[in-house]
Amino acid sequence: GATIGILGGGQLGRMMAIAAAGYGLKACVYCPDAGSPAFEVAASHIQAAWDDEAALADFCARVDVITYEFENIPAATVAFLMARKPLAPGLKALETSQDRLAEKTFVASLGVGVAPFARVDGVADLEAALEKLGRPAILKTRRFGYDGKGQVRINDGDSAAAAFAAIGQAPAILEGFVPFDREISVISARSATGEFAAFDVCENVHRHHILDVTTVPAAVPGPLRQKAVAAARAIADALEYVGVLTVEMFVLADGETLLVNETAPRVHNSGHWTIEGARTSQFQQHVRAVCGWPLGDTSRLGRATMTNLIGDDIDAWRAILAEPGASLHLYGKAEARPGRKMGHVTRILPE
Ligand code: ATP
Ligand code: MG
Ligand code: MG
Repeated sequence: GATIGILGGGQLGRMMAIAAAGYGLKACVYCPDAGSPAFEVAASHIQAAWDDEAALADFCARVDVITYEFENIPAATVAFLMARKPLAPGLKALETSQDRLAEKTFVASLGVGVAPFARVDGVADLEAALEKLGRPAILKTRRFGYDGKGQVRINDGDSAAAAFAAIGQAPAILEGFVPFDREISVISARSATGEFAAFDVCENVHRHHILDVTTVPAAVPGPLRQKAVAAARAIADALEYVGVLTVEMFVLADGETLLVNETAPRVHNSGHWTIEGARTSQFQQHVRAVCGWPLGDTSRLGRATMTNLIGDDIDAWRAILAEPGASLHLYGKAEARPGRKMGHVTRILPE
């Protein structure tokens, strides 16, 4: 069988490797971090730095296709790999999602709504942007942010200089604050032949800037769901996308207006419910797409909730084992830390 190369060794890579094995494929995981959760379930792994060319060449020799479980892979690493083996999703998707300014500019160019935004390269830019967009606003680093890291809210009376210093003076973007009613995500897949399939729209609630609970289907009107899926499809088509794509969106109080918050060129935490809750999981779907296989049936098997298990409360997890209808997933992370995703639980309820 073929071997899928996976860049990144976190829980997303772990669940991707498990799905690959279920289809009779091998996974080779490349990650700089010792003890990565995906290593122990993959057929093989390479623990080496992103700029270790000997290790990268070894990885390329072992795999037939390369994919990734996170988007912040250095450009030089991507160039080295792409010269040797096919990469899916491709470079355009990766580059667009790595930079919030490029991402918002691209999404807006498709006629899909985004929050008002402005480029911020210094305190003077930030002051001008605040004049234009008003307060509150959110200042975000253009690159490398996740779980709300690298962003700061600017309220009335807050100093622009202090906000810019707080995010470390990196190239940034200012976004107008969106008074959203709900947050949703669309997990979809596109194949190399342009086939497209979306899972039902997910509704996401965050706690301390980290995803807490996903509920499916999202409690939004049907036309809005269709609009959300159409936006995801427009993005996937324009990127000539291959693989699973996640698009996070805000729903405004009018129940009609949708604004794209960000995209992730990969499987996503808000799609974990698909393992038990859909006929094809997001991980299986991703494997199918990157291998050039037909996409799977995305239909739901019930209503689903997915709750992240964060931190170190191991005793609470034990109770889940006894709960009918609950499926426990633990990622095998050796050390629990506050804010660290240790596992999740999916509950499937009848329609
Ligand atoms: P993730 O872990 O999803 O990758 P991230 O660090 O990349 O998160 P965002 O998704 O941009 O950050 O923002 C995190 C959360 O902050 C959003 O889910 C939303 O709740 C809130 N947020 C972000 N941007 C805005 C905005 N312009 N207006 C209102 N709330 C926002
Ligand atoms: Mg993000
Ligand atoms: Mg986000």
